[in-house]
Amino acid sequence: MDFLPGANRVQEGDFEHPPISATGKDVIIIGGGDTGADCLGTSHRHGAASVHQFEIMPRPPDARPDANPWPTWPMIYRVSSAHEEGGEREYSINTVRFVGDQDGNVAGLDTVRVEQVVHDGRATFQPVAGSEQHFPAQMVLLAMGFTGPESGPLIDQFGVDLDARSNVARDDSWTTNVEGVFVAGDMGRGQSLIVWAIAEGRSAAAAVDRWLMGDTELPSPITPTDVPQR
Ligand SMILES: Cc1cc2nc3c(=O)[nH]c(=O)nc-3n(C[C@H](O)[C@H](O)[C@H](O)COP(=O)(O)OP(=O)(O)OC[C@H]3O[C@@H](n4cnc5c(N)ncnc54)[C@H](O)[C@@H]3O)c2cc1C
Repeated sequence: MDFLPGANRVQEGDFEHPPISATGKDVIIIGGGDTGADCLGTSHRHGAASVHQFEIMPRPPDARPDANPWPTWPMIYRVSSAHEEGGEREYSINTVRFVGDQDGNVAGLDTVRVEQVVHDGRATFQPVAGSEQHFPAQMVLLAMGFTGPESGPLIDQFGVDLDARSNVARDDSWTTNVEGVFVAGDMGRGQSLIVWAIAEGRSAAAAVDRWLMGDTELPSPITPTDVPQR
């Protein structure tokens, strides 16, 4: 969120140059998801010298495994339009340390390949002996996912409860544990998509109207527990 908005604002004409530029740099993106792909595409557009995207999980298979049958979402290897523009995708890799230059700037990452081991249903990543590797990098972008709403005065002073995934907990009426405080979007659902945020916002608005007026004519397209049917 430090890197991408500035790049977008150059496209909007707000800035002549991006506040953080990847031009001429070896870039490593830690995180193999969609935000990582946004960072990869943007780094290429800036004219990065090289771009690597690290993913701790193994490379997904090209075709559905038996354990992932239709109609579940296929967990297969995908190439986004950003990936078609270049870059190297590294899988089963973990960062061991950031290596700095004499001025304290990042100069590279020490990494190790990892093997995913599942114990009691919980996945851990064990380093593979002898797989240590150094990657030069003058820019490292962290794209490892939303880990819940930021803690701080807003959440603390409202006194709202969090759920087990550190999102703001809510009931079927979009209400938190605090009377008159409602929650919608990523704050309650966790990392998601714009379509869900829009549908949640509309549904929560209907719930607020019902709470204020006793009834509502506003549309309520979804409930808090609806999940994508891809
Ligand atoms: C880099 C990135 C790329 C993404 N790409 C996609 C994509 O391609 N497609 C897609 O569908 N989704 C994408 N998403 C996810 C999508 O952006 C979110 O799911 C969606 O924006 C959630 O909407 P929201 O309204 O819940 O929260 P937000 O969009 O985060 O809005 C919350 C707003 O609240 C404001 N705010 C925070 N604190 C306060 C306060 N104290 N008082 C007042 N306002 C406050 C924030 O400034 C912000 O404007 C992406 C997310 C990221 C981070």
